[in-house]
Amino acid sequence: MADVLKKVPVREQAPNVRAANFEEVCLGYNKEEAMEEAARCINCKNAKCVQGCPVSINIPAFIHEVKEGNIEAAYQVISESSALPAICGRVCPQESQCEGKCIRGIKGEPISIGKLERFVADWARENNVKPSVSVEKNGHKVAVIGSGPSGLTCAGDLAKLGYDVTIFEALHEAGGVLVYGIPEFRLPKSEVVAAEVENVKALGVKIETNVIIGKSTTIDELLEDEGFEAVFIGSGAGLPMFMGIPGENANGVFSANEYLTRNNLMKAFDENYDTPIARGKKVAVVGGGNVAMDAARTALRLGAEVHIVYRRSEAELPARVEEVHHAKEEGVIFDLLTNPTEILVDENDAVRGMKCIRMELGEPDASGRRRPVAIPGSEFELELDTVIMSLGTSPNPLISSTTIGLDTNKRKCIIASEENGQTSKEGVFAGGDAVTGAATVILAMGAGKAAAKGIHEFLSNK
Ligand SMILES: Cc1cc2nc3c(=O)[nH]c(=O)nc-3n(C[C@H](O)[C@H](O)[C@H](O)COP(=O)(O)OP(=O)(O)OC[C@H]3O[C@@H](n4cnc5c(N)ncnc54)[C@H](O)[C@@H]3O)c2cc1C
Repeated sequence: MADVLKKVPVREQAPNVRAANFEEVCLGYNKEEAMEEAARCINCKNAKCVQGCPVSINIPAFIHEVKEGNIEAAYQVISESSALPAICGRVCPQESQCEGKCIRGIKGEPISIGKLERFVADWARENNVKPSVSVEKNGHKVAVIGSGPSGLTCAGDLAKLGYDVTIFEALHEAGGVLVYGIPEFRLPKSEVVAAEVENVKALGVKIETNVIIGKSTTIDELLEDEGFEAVFIGSGAGLPMFMGIPGENANGVFSANEYLTRNNLMKAFDENYDTPIARGKKVAVVGGGNVAMDAARTALRLGAEVHIVYRRSEAELPARVEEVHHAKEEGVIFDLLTNPTEILVDENDAVRGMKCIRMELGEPDASGRRRPVAIPGSEFELELDTVIMSLGTSPNPLISSTTIGLDTNKRKCIIASEENGQTSKEGVFAGGDAVTGAATVILAMGAGKAAAKGIHEFLSNK
């Protein structure tokens, strides 16, 4: 008999096989496995898992339907709260959200809520089941800037309320980080992301790609000349940061964003596409977050020996435990407690290595994490041909600098109410990474939801 204290294991591609391809690592549950895992749920009356979900999916109700084998009913329960379940089931940090609160997790392993969500959403897609909604149009026009998770969620919720919604997207494909940042091997683009974008479009949402708000047109023009009565800004935080060390402008130094965009959105890994990408032999990725893991695992699949260079220890790595585990299994080398001080270049101004210094952990800093302190005399050199900087991102100031009366903070994040997304400018709402700085898919979705409610209230009272 199965051990009820343990999750039903999920099938994955073997590490040595997947390290050489871009196909999805996790293969997900089949129906029998999903029903067995769902049967572990004790259906708590006061479900803590729902409190841990930023979009408040009725988790016990959908898991109950899975347990009974009613997968279509489970999908409709999830669809009441989320338009992107196949995406969230794959990339949400469940361990610190729904699963982190699961009562089963006290004595054993929590219910595998993410993998169940993914199974239900994949089943619905494969069986052509759509969210059941009937929408009566109210004739009011709302513009949404950006087609990432915050924009898609805000647009979908407004469309369900009857609004005529247009998303303006700067890139040529909709999805935000879901298409340009997160790699294919974690989140398949044409199969999974495109299908969930189509579900949002099926609600009546229009998406205009290749429109840069702040250049093609402005928020003030949308409100004053184009007939939009409210605007939601979900433009993300796509501006990369650098260390400011010598050699950072050399050939062979990339931001993780550029590197991943070339590979994911522009399909550089696929020989049928023309996009060039550095196929380094020895690559260092500087940073320890999810983005660093994605860049490292991408470089590995492109044939390189890859080092993660991170200044704190393993315990402080900000990436999800699952991502670190997968990276290690695939052969990424972790140089922890190590900080770069200079990128070394050859006579052609190309990367030939990186000077680093060993670190130790001192007292906790403002973030509560122990501060890394350099150990004098511990400098050493890493021989490399490519360096990928993954030190975080901030919002691009284009929108705030072209919109009259839109306040930002000193990190260039738009100031907006957490409750309803209202900014300093009447009729303009914002949410997701553009407000919080780089965060997570589900928090961006939660912000999109809150702003949809805020916009509805604003326009209802107008
Ligand atoms: C490589 C990578 C891996 C990640 N992995 C995870 C993960 O595993 N789990 C997780 O939960 N989170 C992850 N994240 C974070 C998560 O993807 C983001 O927090 C989330 O996508 C933010 O959503 P958003 O809607 O605010 O913005 P985005 O997804 O950034 O979307 C913003 C959109 O707005 C568009 N835009 C910007 N400016 C303009 C303009 N002026 N005019 C028109 N359009 C504009 C952009 O092109 C983009 O499409 C990852 C991020 C990256 C970069």
